[in-house]
Amino acid sequence: MNPVANYKNCKVTLKYKQPYPNNAFFRKRRLAGKAHRGIDFAPKDELKGQPFFIIAPVTGEVIFAGRHTQFGNMVVIKSVEHGREYLHMLCHLRSISRQTVMYGKRIRKGIILGLMGRTGTATGVHLHYQVEIRLDRQRQTHPWAEGYWKHINPSSYLT
Ligand SMILES: [Zn+2]
Repeated sequence: MNPVANYKNCKVTLKYKQPYPNNAFFRKRRLAGKAHRGIDFAPKDELKGQPFFIIAPVTGEVIFAGRHTQFGNMVVIKSVEHGREYLHMLCHLRSISRQTVMYGKRIRKGIILGLMGRTGTATGVHLHYQVEIRLDRQRQTHPWAEGYWKHINPSSYLT
């Protein structure tokens, strides 16, 4: 499910990409060689300033709901699909719906998580949506999630 409620009023501003080519365009933006580990959604130009609700793209357990240095207000849902574990990271939210989004709580696909925003290292209002899959390795990749996680292309979750 698309993580933005009225997604038809949004546009994808940055696709999943890894890594960026080392050319002038990306060097100027300090992105050369770097990956974009998620998909960015932003309001269409004529709808800037309107509220956009961020919704759960899957059913799962909330394993993080709070402040992240880079990703600002972030909600992370852990889901299990065909025996594999996934993280769905919804980032840069203006606010988190604290009545429904609580650590350790199970939430259903489609439920409102909060509002699109520009918290953390964001230059404008947008949603950064990142999906990661758990791999069977010892090292831990996030302090807030047990296990080793590798980002994948989230586009298969979009409607
Ligand atoms: Zn992004």
